[in-house]
Amino acid sequence: MIVANIASIKEKLPPNVQLVAVSKLQPPEAIMEAYATGQRHFGENRASEFLSKWAQLPKDIHWHFIGHLQTNKVKMVTGKANLIHSIDSERLLYAINQEAAKQGTLQKCLLEIHIAKEESKTGFLWEEVQKLVNDPQFHSLTSVTICGLMGMASFVSDIHQVRKEFQTLKCCFDHLKQTAFIDNPHFCHLSMGMSGDWPIAVEEGSTLIRIGSQIFDNND
Ligand SMILES: *Cc1c(COP(=O)(O)O)cnc(C)c1O
Repeated sequence: MIVANIASIKEKLPPNVQLVAVSKLQPPEAIMEAYATGQRHFGENRASEFLSKWAQLPKDIHWHFIGHLQTNKVKMVTGKANLIHSIDSERLLYAINQEAAKQGTLQKCLLEIHIAKEESKTGFLWEEVQKLVNDPQFHSLTSVTICGLMGMASFVSDIHQVRKEFQTLKCCFDHLKQTAFIDNPHFCHLSMGMSGDWPIAVEEGSTLIRIGSQIFDNND
């Protein structure tokens, strides 16, 4: 079932879009089933669960950390996750930078932008991102590389609403790429799209889709 689900998603993906299999709450055996198909990108959203899977699963897995990260758990994720999608505050960004510097590594991150109507979704507001990237301190970050943006659309059935939110995120991305990140060749990822909305996200320019239930749940 996992094998078939991955195959059916992959056959619809353009070559420039990476499938991240969101394996949160899944046992290592389920991850290994996906791994056997050649899938190497997996996403986790809890620091302790990530750390335990990271420790016991093959080292050629590319781990994506996609959940809200508390600053006191930065150590568990920095230097182990290949990409942290969920930088949602200045404080978290500087904490990761400090930990990466201590480890002597360079941590790749995405800035999470609040695009949904719902209050509960996390991320920077556009004004906050502007403030962040225009702060001289931001340009002195030595141990993180900002590789793009991440966002979550509203959980609604109105696909026009969802599409508009993805378009907003793509606009933010294009704007930042031409301004604050014009000299950063790594700023090229747009993480958007989940099981319910990824085809729309791909049409609107996503390069990383984060799929959990469509891979791991029985969708028959
Ligand atoms: C759980 C989760 C996903 C995957 O959601 P599905 O709807 O199961 O595909 C994607 N992104 C984030 C941030 C998540 O927490």
